[in-house]
Amino acid sequence: MRRIIDPIRKLIPFILFSALSAILMFKWPGFLFFAWIGACVSIGIYAADRYKGRAKQTGRRIAIILMAPVFLVFLGIMQRENLQLEETVFYLAYFITGGIFTRVLIHYAIAKVGGPLVFGRGFCGWACWTAALLEWLPIRENKPIPEKYQYMRYPVLIISLAVPFIMIQAGYDYISQHVYDTPGQVISHHKYHQLLFFLVGNALYYAAALPLAFIFRKKRAFCKIACPVSLVMKIPARYSLIKKTPTGERCTECGACNRNCPMDVDVMGYVRSGRRVESTECILCNACVHVCPANALR
Ligand code: SF4
Ligand code: SF4
Ligand code: SF4
Repeated sequence: MRRIIDPIRKLIPFILFSALSAILMFKWPGFLFFAWIGACVSIGIYAADRYKGRAKQTGRRIAIILMAPVFLVFLGIMQRENLQLEETVFYLAYFITGGIFTRVLIHYAIAKVGGPLVFGRGFCGWACWTAALLEWLPIRENKPIPEKYQYMRYPVLIISLAVPFIMIQAGYDYISQHVYDTPGQVISHHKYHQLLFFLVGNALYYAAALPLAFIFRKKRAFCKIACPVSLVMKIPARYSLIKKTPTGERCTECGACNRNCPMDVDVMGYVRSGRRVESTECILCNACVHVCPANALR
């Protein structure tokens, strides 16, 4: 029976995201990309089966790198849709002042606000295009980030929200910059502004993320120190339905889960006290599950 259920279980992401594609495709055929996102996750889960222990993370790394072109090339460059937080403020202002609920806002609603109520910060673990590159860096260490550096995310978030807000107040013509193209329409002038913002914004993220990873000897140092999006996602992620859960098997207190957690979560503390991993830093990467010799987590 398990031989039948297991492959089907791995296909669940593909099935669910394909259903989402089917619902949204009537609005815009490009929403087929959701099916590809689900396929990438399912491919990653299948690929992980080929490895053992810590190497199982390769499956997720394959998934995240296969997904990155959707956001960077298809949406960012071809469709000129900047999914970054700063741009989302403009789109939100456009919507509030009578515009429509654009694809960028649909992304934010699903991946960063509504989705985390179900799958926590799974976007960070499986889909973020910034992390897609970080995950493949040749850094073997996973040093914990001192807590004092983690507060830097707050001023970065304030700056990220303040810059578009100040630009709007200063009279920046955000409405004509964010009008939604009708399908088939030639890409209009305002879309080139989107492309410029997209390229500069992502270049800044990578320019900060790559040196931080090498300086702190941790691939995801940027996520812990500087990413403003993490703070937005942490709020709904607190109530996430899906969390890592102790299986009831006895924890041997080997500490492997804590050493391998890319987000410095005290996994062992949760398992020892029999609680689910409540930390909003958890990105559902499964590294703790893969390295646990006692099968104390699922
Ligand atoms: S914390 Fe930021 S950079 Fe890191 S994975 Fe999440 S969204 Fe991406
Ligand atoms: S607690 Fe486990 S699943 Fe969550 S981020 Fe850490 S290693 Fe990944
Ligand atoms: S890896 Fe497993 S056995 Fe080791 S400390 Fe973590 S939960 Fe306990």
